[in-house]
Amino acid sequence: MLWSGWGDPAKAADLPGPIRKLLHEMLGVRPPRDRAADFGEVRLPAVALSPLVLTALRDVVGADHVRFDDDARLRHTRGKSTPDLLRMRAGDGSDAPDAVVLPGSHDEVLAVLATCAAHRVAVVPFGGGTSVVGGLVATRQGFAGVVALDLARLNRLVAVDRESMVAEMEPGLRAPQAEQLLAGHGLTLGHFPQSFEYATLGGFAAARSSGQASAGYGRFDDMVVGMTVATPRGTLDLGRAPASAAGPDLRQVILGSEGAFGVITSLRLRVRPAPAERVYEGWRFESFAAGSAALRRLAQEGALPTVLRLSDETETMIGLARPSEIGALSADAGCLAVAGYEGFSEVPALRERVAAVASGLGGVYLGPGPGESWAYGRYSAPYLRDSLLAAGATVETLETAGFWSNLPRLYEAVRLSLHASLGSPLVMCHISHVYGTGASLYFTVVTAQTDDPVGQWETAKRSVNEAIVTAGGTISHHHGVGRDHREAHAVEIGDLGVEILRGIKDRLDPEGILNPGVLVAPEKPVS
Ligand SMILES: Cc1cc2nc3c(=O)[nH]c(=O)nc-3n(C[C@H](O)[C@H](O)[C@H](O)COP(=O)(O)OP(=O)(O)OC[C@H]3O[C@@H](n4cnc5c(N)ncnc54)[C@H](O)[C@@H]3O)c2cc1C
Repeated sequence: MLWSGWGDPAKAADLPGPIRKLLHEMLGVRPPRDRAADFGEVRLPAVALSPLVLTALRDVVGADHVRFDDDARLRHTRGKSTPDLLRMRAGDGSDAPDAVVLPGSHDEVLAVLATCAAHRVAVVPFGGGTSVVGGLVATRQGFAGVVALDLARLNRLVAVDRESMVAEMEPGLRAPQAEQLLAGHGLTLGHFPQSFEYATLGGFAAARSSGQASAGYGRFDDMVVGMTVATPRGTLDLGRAPASAAGPDLRQVILGSEGAFGVITSLRLRVRPAPAERVYEGWRFESFAAGSAALRRLAQEGALPTVLRLSDETETMIGLARPSEIGALSADAGCLAVAGYEGFSEVPALRERVAAVASGLGGVYLGPGPGESWAYGRYSAPYLRDSLLAAGATVETLETAGFWSNLPRLYEAVRLSLHASLGSPLVMCHISHVYGTGASLYFTVVTAQTDDPVGQWETAKRSVNEAIVTAGGTISHHHGVGRDHREAHAVEIGDLGVEILRGIKDRLDPEGILNPGVLVAPEKPVS
């Protein structure tokens, strides 16, 4: 993973000249004032951990698995939001952990937590490092140091219960590794977020991720039937039946807890047979409203393809279509929907049902071209973000969800807020996760960088968070809370809700060492 950007450095590319020109003409984008820092120029704080603590950690996981070289520290600094990348490009490594610790078992995680609690060292559980909400930055105040607890060595497919269609897998497995291991059994999880190439199973559970095929396979939290969690107070082993009336479901307390309550060391996950057939195709609707109505009908009639997404007018023109298709689509100012089917003999009948609903609501069938084009480029947008940042554009995404009846209001509120704080940015939106009762809205914003691009985005983000909550949406449908959504989340769940979360944290993590500052603010500054 590129330390200051996304993915395989070999795939990094400069923006072509004509696109730069277009960005300049449309948005006033100019090359950034300062060049991006080289690896050796990033300013890292001195390692704060004492030799005593480093020795204690080595005693637990072995000397090879405690690293405090610059390379390891830098690669575990923050996540991959646009402000994270901008800070790295500016040479700011101030949030680097003091050390990276790689445990090899559940018991080692427990022992690391005990050691860190004894020495008041903050612990940041680290999966793929793709958080976009500030979920990997711990508050240092009151702690003797910070370690990143990298779960990469917990990377086994432990067992497959074919009869129950449940696989036990370790949290450090990256999604492609997990899919490869399951493919050996003819199975799949069906979880394909845009961060698929790098994110891990533990991160998906801890941040309540949702993948591009959620209409068919469900969200990641739907897939978790059981889990083992290491906390500073001991082990939690949750989930022993497909459903249960034995009190509140404690799995739901850990799902979405973003490393603040415990470290997930094992997951029991519902799996599906790997599909024999994959078909992706496109539909055009006259407007976002008309397309939304069709998606709603499909969700409410239970005729859902595996992938279902709808771009608004702007995203249709700019984002999804191939350059050769932009003219054709924009001439008619429509909205592109992609329907993807992954399955077996049921696929033809489902396609017919979807076609009947879509065409009955004004959809025009575009054939497989746009669907295949989407499937081909489904993981490429983050690479483009790096090229845009280098060219002087700020590009960031944000998401929310709401009930169908409130979706138009939410859509407008977000757009208005972004326009109010960023001048005339390019704002694109799509729906990519649908339910009978509502849907998510996923926005991409492109604007010209100012000389302080981090400050520019932070101001916009504060106001758009407020707009989302005021308009009745949730602050996150699938990115999580982290630090960036913490205040808005507190408004969303109210004082009592925050008190409950704090109470759970205090009970599981009395020293407050787990990801301090993420999910819930400390009640009072730690002294
Ligand atoms: C380009 C890009 C595209 C993305 N697309 C999507 C998308 O389509 N859908 C989506 O849902 N998200 C998406 N994300 C967000 C991100 O990939 C998800 O939040 C993902 O779940 C994070 O997984 P990770 O392994 O990288 O976790 P990390 O980023 O390493 O950690 C995320 C949070 O979980 C905690 N954590 C990690 N592992 C554990 C564990 N084992 N136990 C306890 N806590 C743990 C961390 O402390 C942190 O707070 C995207 C991000 C990027 C950068």
